Amino acid sequence: MDSSQDASPVPQHLETRLVTAGRDTRAQKGFVNPPVVHGSTVLYPSAGDLHAHRGEFQYGRHGTPTTRALQDMLMALEGPQCAGVGIAPSGLAAITTTLLSVLKAGDHLLVCDNVYRPSRNFCNGLLARYGVATTYFDPLIGSGIAALFKPNTRAVLVEAPGSQSFEMPDIRAIAEVAHARGALVIDDNTWATPLYHRSLEQGVDISIQAATKYIGGHSDIMFGTISANAKAWPLVAETIRLLGVCAGPDDVFLALRGLRTLAVRLAQHHRSGLEMARWLAARPEVQRVLHPGLESDPGHAIWKRDFTGASGLFSIVLEPAPQQAVDALLDTVRLFGMGYSWGGFESLVISFDCDGYRTATKWAPGGPTLRLHIGLENVDDLKADLERGFAALRAAL
Ligand SMILES: *Cc1c(COP(=O)(O)O)cnc(C)c1O
Repeated sequence: MDSSQDASPVPQHLETRLVTAGRDTRAQKGFVNPPVVHGSTVLYPSAGDLHAHRGEFQYGRHGTPTTRALQDMLMALEGPQCAGVGIAPSGLAAITTTLLSVLKAGDHLLVCDNVYRPSRNFCNGLLARYGVATTYFDPLIGSGIAALFKPNTRAVLVEAPGSQSFEMPDIRAIAEVAHARGALVIDDNTWATPLYHRSLEQGVDISIQAATKYIGGHSDIMFGTISANAKAWPLVAETIRLLGVCAGPDDVFLALRGLRTLAVRLAQHHRSGLEMARWLAARPEVQRVLHPGLESDPGHAIWKRDFTGASGLFSIVLEPAPQQAVDALLDTVRLFGMGYSWGGFESLVISFDCDGYRTATKWAPGGPTLRLHIGLENVDDLKADLERGFAALRAAL
């Protein structure tokens, strides 16, 4: 049971729901948190129950008290548009399961050119093999997407902002066109989470999160979630069942535990991220900062309209410099670890280049590009670390 529904008439803001939802103290014998249920077999009390498949839980793959608690919590966080939440063993599995839910052979899919690269690999690989054609579109296309629809276009996949290049698609405009043509809209909402971007309230039918990132928050799990509205949930639920998608109980618990503190962590990532972005924008080594929360960013107006905050992930374009000078920076910084993924408590930096996989748009940033994740360290320490990195870069020019 979701305690946010049976409890008090007290109003519940999102931060409060993160604390109250998915907990049933009585069922938990007084403990604050639900137990981590490791289980496959569920015993039925009578032959009648067995034959009728009667019971709150029937088999481990289909759900446990631990997965139910997490689903209740995400339902409470997403709001009344959310008809169901699916859980997956990784963010990518959440995306692929969703695409398989809404597409069949002969269908056409529209995908934003700035989506997570492995999402493209799935479309170009497995979906193509199964007879689904994909067209990529400019993230800034807006309602111009209408021209790309075909009679068999069934879905549109977007990511706002793209997690390397940070263009901000107008999801509201895209959703309006898609719905008029009977297509579903899928949003990879990993960057903002439902706390800062209310996807399902803004016309999205299925909102996905790589919970590996901010929901987990500690760089210690692989996990994905699929939140769907009433139109899309039956398709997602059926496909999860047919594919046998489920996740391990300890990871489910860590996702649940991460969600409890998501609001305070994200608020800090937002503050520190913006402060670092402004500081970097003023550096002579930096040509441009790609962060929709900055007033100067081309996506700022959409971000302001549709988002209530930013997370700690953004990119910078350096002034032209040879790779060896960029590598000198990377090898000098200590607080910024070099590694993929993000959303944990620690700061990260990587070099990236979208040129090898963009197809609808040309990636020509005009200098080497770095993606930064601003963690929960003190920003003065992070600035000092990057100062040392920039000194090493200048010395290697
Ligand atoms: C990391 C990431 C994913 C994939 O999540 P995994 O848990 O690593 O499979 C999907 N989308 C975005 C935007 C991501 O950053």
